[in-house]
Parts: sequence; structure tokens; C-alpha cells
Amino acid sequence: MNNIVKVTGTFEAAHRLSFDEHGSCSNIHGHSYKTHFFFIGELSKGSMVVDFRIVKKLVKEVTDKLDHCLILFKDDSLLPAIKPLMSHFRMGLRELDAEPTAESLARWLATEFVKINPGLLRDLDKLRLGAVEVSETETTMARYVLRNPKDDQDDGK
Ligand SMILES: [Zn+2]
Repeated sequence: MNNIVKVTGTFEAAHRLSFDEHGSCSNIHGHSYKTHFFFIGELSKGSMVVDFRIVKKLVKEVTDKLDHCLILFKDDSLLPAIKPLMSHFRMGLRELDAEPTAESLARWLATEFVKINPGLLRDLDKLRLGAVEVSETETTMARYVLRNPKDDQDDGK
């Protein structure tokens, strides 16, 4: 599979990094996140990898799960205090199994995308999600690369 196509998405969210005790990142603050989803596939239907309209919709489904939420680490000491308030006022709260860094968000988005759309990975010879990038600012970016499940199959032979 030699072709890579990219779909860009965005979402607005707040987070904090609880480990950054003496830095400003331990304050709840927001970002206009930019995401890039990279799909690897073979050309079909007369020279396209995938219909962008379909993939854009799938990417939006996943990024919408974080949009306008407060994203916190599940072990953040702030969580027990803020969770009842967020629930009472029906505000979006997303708990992650790791500190909500750009790296963690890239992994979460990739995992969630695959969970929602397992068919893209099942059809290994045509299309799969290869990587997800997350940018909090114009100058920083984290990338999560997904292993090709076919490589795992080949390892077993
Ligand atoms: Zn931040």
C-alpha cells in the first residue's frame, strides 16, 4: 500500500496536566486542536484511495467526542471535586487513562477511530488508519502511529 491520504479535523477543548505542578499547564486552559488522520491504501475506483466525504464524516464523529469538553486524566486529584459539578451542569467531561497531552489525545483518537470503524482495518488490503497527529499550537505536534495488523499476522508465520 503506497498511497497515503490525509484528512484534517479540528475540535475545541479544555484540559490540564496535573503533573505540571509548578507550570501553567496545571491550570485548566483551552486549545483549538487540529488533527490529521492519515490513511494508507491502494488506489481503486479509477485512481482514488477513498472517498474523502466518507472519511471526513468518520473523522468528525471521533473528534466530536472531544469537542467542547473538559479532558482530564482519570487519576487527576481534581476529578472527584469537579465531576459532580460537571454532571450537575451537564457539561462535557472526558476522562482519559493518561494525562491529556497531545500524545495521549492522538492515541485516544486513533484507538477510538478504529473502535468505531473496525471495517477499515479488517479490509487490510484496501485501506487502514496509519497515524493520527494532534496539534495544540501552530508550532507543536504529536503523532501516534498504528501498527499494521497485517505485520502482526506475518510475524506469526
Ligand atoms: Zn494545554
